[in-house]
Amino acid sequence: MKQKLQSVRGMNDILPGEALRWEWLEALVAKCLCGYGYLPVQTPIVEPTPLFSRAIGAVTDIVEKEMYSFSDALNGEPLTLRPEGTAGCVRAVIQHGLANQHTLRLYYMGAMFRHERPQKGRYRQFHQIGAEAFGFPGPDVDAEQILLLARLWQELDLSLTLNINSLGQPEERARHRQDLIAYLEKYETSLDEDARRRLYSNPLRIFDSKNPTTQAICADAPELPAYLGKESHAHFAGVTRILNDEGVSFTVNPRMVRGLDYYNLTVFEWLTNDLGAQGTVAAGGRYDGLVEQLGGKPTPACGFAIGMERLLELILQNDAAGNGAPDIYVVHQGEGTGERTTRLAFQAAEQLRDTGYRVILHCGGGSFKSQMKKADASGATCAILIGEDEASAASVLVKPLRDKEREQELVRLADLAYFLSTHFA
Ligand code: ATP
Ligand code: MG
Repeated sequence: MKQKLQSVRGMNDILPGEALRWEWLEALVAKCLCGYGYLPVQTPIVEPTPLFSRAIGAVTDIVEKEMYSFSDALNGEPLTLRPEGTAGCVRAVIQHGLANQHTLRLYYMGAMFRHERPQKGRYRQFHQIGAEAFGFPGPDVDAEQILLLARLWQELDLSLTLNINSLGQPEERARHRQDLIAYLEKYETSLDEDARRRLYSNPLRIFDSKNPTTQAICADAPELPAYLGKESHAHFAGVTRILNDEGVSFTVNPRMVRGLDYYNLTVFEWLTNDLGAQGTVAAGGRYDGLVEQLGGKPTPACGFAIGMERLLELILQNDAAGNGAPDIYVVHQGEGTGERTTRLAFQAAEQLRDTGYRVILHCGGGSFKSQMKKADASGATCAILIGEDEASAASVLVKPLRDKEREQELVRLADLAYFLSTHFA
């Protein structure tokens, strides 16, 4: 028997109904990003493996165990499916000299690949919308990126909470690291295996452990903020000042560390409690050293990435908006195209599309009853019915589909768009 072919575990098809919702969301986020001066960029899905080990850090979960890496069959070059977008974006900026003597705001959307255990909100192929700003050393751009996301959540009617922290500068982290190792060494035998392995290679990451005993040990460990110097504090204060001025509430979480090594100073995460364990919808921060580290001129930078699957799931839970449903479904008598009713239906549908409504005009004839069933199933807010009586009066019958309490009303074609905008806004 032939084996059934299936998609790779953790890599999902996005089928038409859902794909429409994706396009709607991508367009909405793109509009928001453009509103802040970000321009789109596209980079390859496959990059040389050393790009990621150098950018993300050799001792991180991503590089140690989550990358899809392989050798080019012809020349043996080590290649990797991108696990995140920043490294490729920075590579492109350096390669094309985009940030030389310029500041630059870029965004991208696309598939990322990580070999993780698939579960709700965690996939092996997932999608991010990311933004990166280059050439801005001050806290203004960090705060602006956070404001951009706050505006996006507001437009989507979502309430997410913001956690921020400062990771300071590499020298400050080095001093903290020494003290942290000295503290953790005292509890070495009680730490979980992962934490013990990271004790000397990447102790800060131990704060991220999900193991309860390790977490309890970390509770009294020296915290990074106490090691930050004046400038780092001033940068962080600059970010929080703008957030306060703009009414964006946040929690300072001194234990927040990110899963990637390139961050310094500001880091932030937007969280929800509505998605179970996978509650981080977007995350980012400053990475002032990365451009130089990857061979470019020293260029301060700051960026974030939104997890599309998590954001869409949250939107779906919150509301049916963006599900691809039309606003209006037009039901009409008449099988051919010559009848008055059909011609009026086309006229009404086109007129409504002119004013921005999403309209499905019933095609293929059938009884009013069977057409109404389709109208109901379409998810439209209202149906427009056109029979001989309506056609004689150059009018249509507007029938609410969601709010069943509401009466249907006869509306003249000339008044239809105005009527809908006042009654179904
Ligand atoms: P997590 O702690 O959930 O593993 P992360 O710190 O690894 O997230 P980042 O590398 O900062 O995540 O990526 C930014 C965003 O991309 C995350 O906040 C999340 O929304 C999304 N994301 C990351 N990994 C996955 C995945 N495997 N599946 C789906 N979305 C993901
Ligand atoms: Mg992760």
